[in-house]
Amino acid sequence: MLTPEQLRRAVRYGRKRIVDQGEVLLDVGDQAPRVFIVTQGRLEIVRPAGTRQDFVTDLGPGQFSGEVSTLSGQPALVRVRAVAQSEVIEVDREHLLSVVQADSELSDILMRSFILRRVELIARGLGDAVLLGSNHCAGTLRIREFLTRNNHPYSEIDLDREADVQELLDRFQVSLADIPVLICRCQVVLRNPTNQQIADCLGFNKAIDVTKAHDLVIVGAGPSGLAAAVYGASEGLDVLVVEASAPGGQAGSSSKIENYLGFPTGISGLELAARAHAQAQKFGAQLMVARAATRLSCARKPYALRIDGAEEAPARAIIIATGAKYRKLAVDNLARFEGAGVYYSATPMESQLCRGEEVIVVGGGNSAGQAAVFLAQTARRVHMLVRSEDLAGKMSRYLIRRIEGHPSIALRFRTEIAGLNGNGHLERVTWRDARTGKVDTHEVRHLFVMAGAVPNTGWLEGCVTLDGKGFIKTGADLTKEDLAAARWPLIRMPYLLETSLPGVFAIGDVRSGNLKRVASAVGEGSIAVALVHRALLD
Ligand SMILES: Cc1cc2nc3c(=O)[nH]c(=O)nc-3n(C[C@H](O)[C@H](O)[C@H](O)COP(=O)(O)OP(=O)(O)OC[C@H]3O[C@@H](n4cnc5c(N)ncnc54)[C@H](O)[C@@H]3O)c2cc1C
Repeated sequence: MLTPEQLRRAVRYGRKRIVDQGEVLLDVGDQAPRVFIVTQGRLEIVRPAGTRQDFVTDLGPGQFSGEVSTLSGQPALVRVRAVAQSEVIEVDREHLLSVVQADSELSDILMRSFILRRVELIARGLGDAVLLGSNHCAGTLRIREFLTRNNHPYSEIDLDREADVQELLDRFQVSLADIPVLICRCQVVLRNPTNQQIADCLGFNKAIDVTKAHDLVIVGAGPSGLAAAVYGASEGLDVLVVEASAPGGQAGSSSKIENYLGFPTGISGLELAARAHAQAQKFGAQLMVARAATRLSCARKPYALRIDGAEEAPARAIIIATGAKYRKLAVDNLARFEGAGVYYSATPMESQLCRGEEVIVVGGGNSAGQAAVFLAQTARRVHMLVRSEDLAGKMSRYLIRRIEGHPSIALRFRTEIAGLNGNGHLERVTWRDARTGKVDTHEVRHLFVMAGAVPNTGWLEGCVTLDGKGFIKTGADLTKEDLAAARWPLIRMPYLLETSLPGVFAIGDVRSGNLKRVASAVGEGSIAVALVHRALLD
């Protein structure tokens, strides 16, 4: 509820309008979302669902419409209708961004409301997407994760439980081979769609013009990329972020980050990412999801980024924040069980799947340790398989203590996975003790692989200098020989976090020598932006 004084200030950013009873001010799917502030009368917010309408809320004088999609420029998720003749202040997206940046009091009220409304839409499943899938299907898990990480509300029909689903499937001429299915905007039926198809159908990237030359293009929206987006946009740079999947990166798959400053009781990776995403949007950064950077044209400035399924994005400066991905196990049939018993992250979603069962966690680093402790809350027993002799080398002391003292965690050193078996879903796992050569097979249906990372640098094709393991070298780590080989053209040496290509920076897990922590990723994001300003003056 805005006070009369706040309403007076809001009028400056919009235009007053009289609207008739029954008039639809905004409809589901509208491409130009706006906010309506009621000064007289009453508006109602509904969510049309086929022939009926779900009532969401109504708004009286001093109240306002809008939620996260209004800020991001994505299609509207709800219908706004006048219940009686009313007077409203209409604020378009451009002016909304101005309010949010210029008036801190209004900004706080709007941002808090928008975020809480999105949370409510998600909780009530009031989205424009219906997912038909099964818990035992990798595609279903992928789509669920994609929608959740993009904070998009959706409802779900579990094909394993709903008896009358066949009729629904027949209506849309969907065969079982097409599962999972996403019904998008109540109109389009997508059969086992890619993330890119989902993003296109739901209009996630609709408001973005990639062909415009941006001051800064950030590749990757993990903690480091999101931090760079927040600092870059808040300091006046025109920022585009390109993300292959959804915001959050590896941290997004972390069930609880307990060592990030300011969160004494921990914060889930999903929540941290959602907050950072909203913060970046508040300052005007644009985030393109489900689009991977596939090549960097680095021969001349402005550089240009080739983006999968989109046009080239010219950029005056680039920050590479593409992180790293988990090492896979050397087991022949691994791919058969990925998402069907083999997982690379341990979030509340996975922990529900293995409630009361035995699980295996492979790895000896911090992420493996966290996964083991987290899963032990719901699983009957956690077998932790570590290749080395002990945990001291790679894991934080506090985690080692928790694991060693936990009654449900069984630690097995010098042990590796030797085979996976199952019909459709993982059912049995064989492991080998490297000291004795003894092989054991156990009835375990859930295996969490957390065994180190490989940098996402394949797409750079020789544009920047890499270290022996493929991570990007920056700043003082670049030797004279590296710079000579890369034909470094400037008199000055590369800045901290700058690669062997002037104006191109690398931050976070993808950078050689990085600490692989959320805090260091975020810190590097902020430092890189300060140096981007300097590099833009070259
Ligand atoms: C399960 C788990 C738990 C963890 N727990 C903690 C913890 O408690 N505390 C802590 O400090 N650290 C923790 N970490 C480590 C931390 O998450 C990472 O250090 C951090 O996420 C690194 O951030 P980043 O932005 O550099 O990279 P990432 O988080 O890896 O993000 C990189 C992003 O770039 C995208 N990308 C990759 N290639 C491309 C491309 N070609 N085009 C566009 N986008 C691309 C990816 O999709 C991804 O979203 C954990 C990691 C995991 C996996």
